[in-house]
Formats: sequence, C-alpha cells, structure tokens
Amino acid sequence: MSKTFKRFDALAAVKAPVNGSAKPDSKPFDILDIFGENALHLTELKARLPKSIWKELKKTITENAPLHADIADAVAVVMKNWATERGATHYTHWFQPLTGFTAEKHDSFITPNQGGGAVAEFSGKELIQGEPDASSFPSGGLRPTFEARGYTIWDPTSPAFIVENENGSTLCIPTAFASWKGEALDLKTPLLRSTEALNTAGMRALELFEVDAKRVTSTVGAEQEYFLIDKEFFYRRSDLVLSGRTLFGGVPPKGQELDDHYFGSIQDRVLSFMLELEKELYRLGVPVKTRHNEVAPGQYEIAPIFETSNVSADHQQLMMIMLRKIARKFDLVCLLHEKPFAGLNGSGKHTNWSVSTSDGLNLLEPGNDPHSNKLFLFFCSAVVRAVYRHQDLLRAVIASAGNDHRLGANEAPPAIISIFLGEQLDDIFKQLRDGELKSSKKGGLLGLGSPVLPPLPKHAGDRNRTSPFAFTGNKFEFRAVGSNQSISMPVTVLNTIVAESVDEMCDMLDKRLKSGDLESSLLEVLTEVAKESAPILFSGDGYSDDWQVEAKKRGLLNLKSTMDALPYFNSDKNVKLFEKYKVLSKAEVEARYEILVGQYFMGINIEGETTASMVQTMIIPATVRYLNELAATLDRGEKLKLTIGGTQRVAKQLSDELDQLIEANEKLIAQNKELGGETEVEKAEHMRSNIIPAMNKVREVADRLEKLVADDYWPMPTYKDMLFIK
Ligand code: ADP
Ligand code: MG
Repeated sequence: MSKTFKRFDALAAVKAPVNGSAKPDSKPFDILDIFGENALHLTELKARLPKSIWKELKKTITENAPLHADIADAVAVVMKNWATERGATHYTHWFQPLTGFTAEKHDSFITPNQGGGAVAEFSGKELIQGEPDASSFPSGGLRPTFEARGYTIWDPTSPAFIVENENGSTLCIPTAFASWKGEALDLKTPLLRSTEALNTAGMRALELFEVDAKRVTSTVGAEQEYFLIDKEFFYRRSDLVLSGRTLFGGVPPKGQELDDHYFGSIQDRVLSFMLELEKELYRLGVPVKTRHNEVAPGQYEIAPIFETSNVSADHQQLMMIMLRKIARKFDLVCLLHEKPFAGLNGSGKHTNWSVSTSDGLNLLEPGNDPHSNKLFLFFCSAVVRAVYRHQDLLRAVIASAGNDHRLGANEAPPAIISIFLGEQLDDIFKQLRDGELKSSKKGGLLGLGSPVLPPLPKHAGDRNRTSPFAFTGNKFEFRAVGSNQSISMPVTVLNTIVAESVDEMCDMLDKRLKSGDLESSLLEVLTEVAKESAPILFSGDGYSDDWQVEAKKRGLLNLKSTMDALPYFNSDKNVKLFEKYKVLSKAEVEARYEILVGQYFMGINIEGETTASMVQTMIIPATVRYLNELAATLDRGEKLKLTIGGTQRVAKQLSDELDQLIEANEKLIAQNKELGGETEVEKAEHMRSNIIPAMNKVREVADRLEKLVADDYWPMPTYKDMLFIK
C-alpha cells in the first residue's frame, strides 16, 4: 500500500549541514572594520560633501532644523556615488505603509543617452520625493483608489543603506509616505511628529530646571524574540505559510517545563545563523549586541544597543527583514508571529524607552540618590502619569489578532496595563504621596559566602517579569509589544503621552513658581501626580487572578482582546490628544482604526479558511486511511479468529473522533461562508465571536486525533519535529 511518509522526508532533510545551504564567509571579521560599511553615515557624508552643505545637513539631522531643498542635489550626488561604488544599480524609497511592514519600489540609476549608451543619474528631486503608484496600500479611506497619488519623502535623519543580493545591490533611502493631500499614510510620519512634540515639551521642562541642551529625544532599544524551524517543516504546514502560526498541533510530552532551553548553549546551526545575521546587521550599521536562547524550545532573542527612536524603528524593521532573509540561507525559517505554537511561550518585543538630551544626559537615570534628583523625579513622574492617564491607548496600540494569544495568557504581560517601579522607587513614590522626600533605599552589597567571588553592589530592587511596563534601571520597558509588530506606533504613543504629561506638569509648576521656589513647588506638583497616578503602580504577580480582582477595584482597564481594545484608539480623548500635539489628525486616527480592525478581520478570516481546508484535505484523509487499515485488520482478524477486541476499540475511538471532527469542521465551514455583516467592525466581531470558537473546537478534536492516528500517516510535521529537530 502506498502511504504518505512525508514527515520522514522532512526528518531526513534536517540532517542538514551546520551552515545549511549557505556559503558563509568563514573568515573572522573585525566588527570595527565592517560596522556600517553598507550604511551612509555622518562621517561618510561629512567627508564627501562641501563644507557649507554638510553644515546645513548636519543641523537638520542632529537638531531637526528645516531641510533646504537646495542641499538635496549635492547629497544626491554623494549618495549615488557612494552607492554605485558599492555595486548598487538601483535605488528605492524605503517606507513603512500601514501594513506594518516595509515597502519599496526600485528605480534604476541608469538613464539611456542619445548615443546609445547610458549614464548614471540621480537628482536632488529624485532623492527628496518619489511618487509610487500606491493605490493598493491600505489608507483607511484617506485616499479613494482613484486618487492613487502618494508621495514618499526623504527622511534625512535616518541613514540610507544598501541591500545586497547575489545578483546586485540596491540603495534604500528611508522615507515618509503621504497622500497627495499631505495626510500621513505611514508609520514614520507620526513617529517623527511625536519626537517633535516630546522635544518641545522636554525643552520647556529643561528650561525650568535650568539645564542646557539643544534637543530632547526619546531613545529606544527593542529586544526581538523569534522562533526558528527547519524550512522543510515550514513548507509542509500551510498554516505556518499562510497565517504564520500553527493552527493544529498538540504540545509534545516535553515542552518548556524543564527550562532547559532558556539561556542554554546555542545549537551549532542556530549559532552559525546568528553570527551571519549579526555580521550583516553590523554592515548595515544596526548595533546588535545580545543573543540568547529564550524560554521555549526553538525560541531565541536578539537585542540591539539603543538609538534615537526614529532610527531605532527603521533599524528594527531592518532587523526583522534580515532575520527572515538570513534564516533562509541556513535552511531555516524565522517565525515572528506572537504565538506560533500553542501551549508554549509566545514572542514579544520588549520596547525599552527613555528620554535624553542632545548631550546624552539620560533623564530617566535615577543616580545614587533618586529622592534628591529633581530632573529624574520630574520625568519619571511624567511617565507614570502618562501611562496612568492613557492605559487605554497603550493597550489599543499593541492590539492585534496575534498578540491576543499572548496578553493575559498567563505567560506574557497581562492585558491590564500597570507599572512596576521596583522597591527603591516604590518607596520614593510613597514618600511623594506623603508629601515629604527623605531618603533613597540602598541595595547594599551582595555576598555569596565564598571569598573567591567578588562582592557585588546589589540593585535597590528586583525585577518583575509579569509587568507590562517596568522600570529597569534607567529606562522603561514596554513588554506587551508583539514580536511581529512595528515599534513605531507604540513609541509614537509613548512620546506623545509623555509629551503631554511633561507639558501639563510644566503648567502646574509654572503656576506654583509664581509664589514659591523650585524645590517646594516641585514637591507639590510631584505629590499631586503621585497621588493621582497611584493606582497604576503594581509590583505583585501580574499573572495572578488576585490581580484581576484588585485591578478592577482600582478602576484599571482590563481589555482582553483586540476588539475590546481598538475602540479606545479613536476615542474622543485620544483624538484630542493626537490633534493637540500634532501627531495625527482626526482623519488620520480614524483611518488607522479602520485599518487595524480590517487587519484583525482578515487575519482571522485567513486562519478560519486555512483550518477548514487543512482538515478537509489533510487530516480527514489521513484518518480515513488509517481507519481503513484498521478495518482491513479487523476483517481478516475475524476470519483468522484472532483476538481483535483491542483493535476494535482503537478503530471505534478513531471513528468517533473522526465524526466529531467532520461535524466541527462543517460548522466552521458554514461560519466561514458568512461575513457577519457589511462593515469591517461587524466582520471583525463575527471573527471574534464565531470563527475563533469554531476553529478552537476543530483544533481540539484534531489535536486528539494527532495522538491516535499512526505517526507515519499524520500529514504534517508535529510540534515534536519542529521544535526539537534543528
Ligand atoms: P535588560 O533588559 O536586561 O536591562 P539591557 O540593559 O541589555 O537589558 O537592555 C535591554 C535593551 O534596552 C537593549 O536594547 C538596550 O539597548 C536598551 N536600553 C538600554 N538603555 C536604554 C535607554 N537609555 N533608552 C532606550 N533603550 C535602552
Ligand atoms: Mg529587557
């Protein structure tokens, strides 16, 4: 009988060499030599541009001074020469439409001339502005399809870079993307606007504290979690190919319970991949620093050194692109979905955020005695106040179908937004509420009882893994961001809400300064803020049921799913906030809301259809084949008078489950045919209330069948194959 031993082909295939099919350059490299060689950095621009032009450009890049169109021609020449020297034949305006991914349209530098030859050309106009026919990008109604015009506009503050391919290279120019009416159709534009808002508010505060600086900017470092699986497995699973996560699969006998993967020694093929990835990221000027195994088998993390938020957001996108691209070279596939495997930890992107001055002074650095560090207390309180006032918006901005599997699912941060400050700052905030600042708790020394181990200064507080928003030394870490998500909107929101709080706290301070001195006025303001924001501070176990009850008592929001959270995104309060700080207009907010709802609907729609089709075309046939074999055994066994009771029971169980599977799948198919209504919201609600439960029901039965059907008949790689074989 011919059987489908497909899974075993896959097993054979993963006996791949350590380097997969990649031919990495095994020469050791010096990071300093290669760092940034494929990015057009300031030093390179300075060396190549006429002095006067360089001065002007630098002002734009470092101080956000307005860009004069006349310098673009000179920069264009430099860019083209630099890129063609590195083998680039094409350039592209690289932008981030509202899909959450990046987009590019390549144009050649080459212009044919009359003599039948060609010259390489690239003008300032081409550098500054592109006009892709962009009618197929989501615009959330900002731009009807017949108004196809969209513009890409050069962002001089983020370095251009070269993307290499075996057959040629392309110069990528980071750009904003807007409609011809000037409405932002991308993620970069609001991020840039929000950094401006934060700068204005921050500079106002620095003036009150008499601190000198040219600018205030936010800094961001995002830790990216991801899974790797062998590409043979990936292609045999249409759920992974189409929806990015496994829609079937029982948790194997061994999952992550032994905690033997976390920080474990890195397997050879994976390490080869990581080294190659890091090298390519260094060449692009992306400052990656940390790598390690994560909690779940097959899960890893990569983290960069922080940069200013706009550059960091671009580099984060580039990091996701390179993760996917380099993995392929090693015959691996990188999964960035928030929850590729049920029953195992999902992946997030801890977004570390701080504010600093142009001179590199970190405004969230508490120093040794935070209770007497006015600047720190002011900015830290502003963050706490902002998160308290806008928990809804922070929750809404990380809502997605993928992240719904993480948030509140007993592993990742809960769906309730709260802040963990740590013991030392908790104590200081308590002192503030009491209206008197006396001292800062000290950590002391950590002695381990062995004279050979050096004594360590102990931190003044431990960490808390369960908090969605934690203070970690000199920055806040927003941990609820999804692994697949662009960090741009979360950072835009952080910048904006903190700008508002800094601004309003400056108002409060200003008023009091008319009659009091800085010290006493500040204490009054901080006391008021600490009292108001107290409910958002929580240092207990965020996964516990008690916290759900306690949070409710405190009046904190607990928005469990995307469809609960998204309506907060475009609430009156938030539209006003975005408008006041000129980050998004009402129309731009509404457009984003519509797109987010649509993405939720479409994502789950794809999952629903994929589930039904895999059951119909893979799982039912495999079960029937096995059942057929059992039936033949029963038939012959009877004739030969063998003991067949056991086989009968197996066959009976199998056919019962098969019945249930078929029934559950019929229900899902019926639900898939309906859309639940006309509007995007109605369709999304249908997905939430009908499709997801129907899919879950199908999966439940299918996962039981996986444990019953003969392994050699099972039509797709299992968790055990995918997670442990590398
Ligand atoms: P941990 O999370 O264990 O504290 P690190 O100190 O390595 O780990 O930081 C994690 C991430 O936080 C890194 O990406 C790092 O660059 C980033 N980070 C550190 N300082 C800042 C800062 N001032 N602003 C923004 N991000 C920062
Ligand atoms: Mg961290």
